Amino acid sequence: MQVGDIQIDAVIDGIARAVPSEAYRWGVGEGSGRGLDDADWEPHRQFLADDGMLEMALGGFLVRTGAHVVLVDAGIGVFNRGVFTGGAMLDNLQGLGVAADDVTDVVFTHLHFDHTGWATVDGAPVFRNATYRCDAADWAHFVPSDERATRKLSPIENQLETWGEDGTLLPGVDVRRAPGHTPGSTVLVLSSGDARAVLLGDAVHCPVELIDDEWATIGDVDPNLAKRTRISLARELEDSGTPAAAAHFPGLEFGRLLPGEGKRTWTF
Ligand SMILES: [Zn+2]
Repeated sequence: MQVGDIQIDAVIDGIARAVPSEAYRWGVGEGSGRGLDDADWEPHRQFLADDGMLEMALGGFLVRTGAHVVLVDAGIGVFNRGVFTGGAMLDNLQGLGVAADDVTDVVFTHLHFDHTGWATVDGAPVFRNATYRCDAADWAHFVPSDERATRKLSPIENQLETWGEDGTLLPGVDVRRAPGHTPGSTVLVLSSGDARAVLLGDAVHCPVELIDDEWATIGDVDPNLAKRTRISLARELEDSGTPAAAAHFPGLEFGRLLPGEGKRTWTF
């Protein structure tokens, strides 16, 4: 994926495979909606694997702007539990010609465990030369109150810079707050000249959530806020036609939301 002078590559770490109606119960609270019954998925089989499972990629995006080698999200790490399997990220990064020490910036869309797996290993930062970056609200939410996140993330504290508002993080990389999934969930807008693309993080897990405003979401800290955020993102993507990818879309592929008569469609 090329956006003007910016090169974007998917860096797969692994995959999560789940029964879709079960995955959408992980976060059921006030914000529940469609997707909780298998029948809801029938018109949307194109988003499921042949065997009916919801396959969610784990990993991140390598964003090369020229001056910066940016890793957006750091996968789940070496992990094989429940529906999650991970561990391939550094090898796949190497396959793109990038060693861990080459990464100048690690930008987290949010701090859930499946986005921070390779932040540190055995208490040491994996990306030794990088500045780690996240929204201040997420750092405050997870560190130190979440024990697992604190163990994973506290070793990067000396390399950490947080943002507290929308704006340009790096040349060609803008952050826009998209709260709800977590307090500091953020969408990244990558731009070069007239070209742009959007990384949606976990504001959306599956494209069906952009098509149907009443679809459920997965694992939100604040489901109602997450829903409002997602609906406004869908409006924008529909109007602009900007290519977008979320952190768990199959193969981390980009697509576009197309307007239709009363019914939006998603095309990879
Ligand atoms: Zn996630």
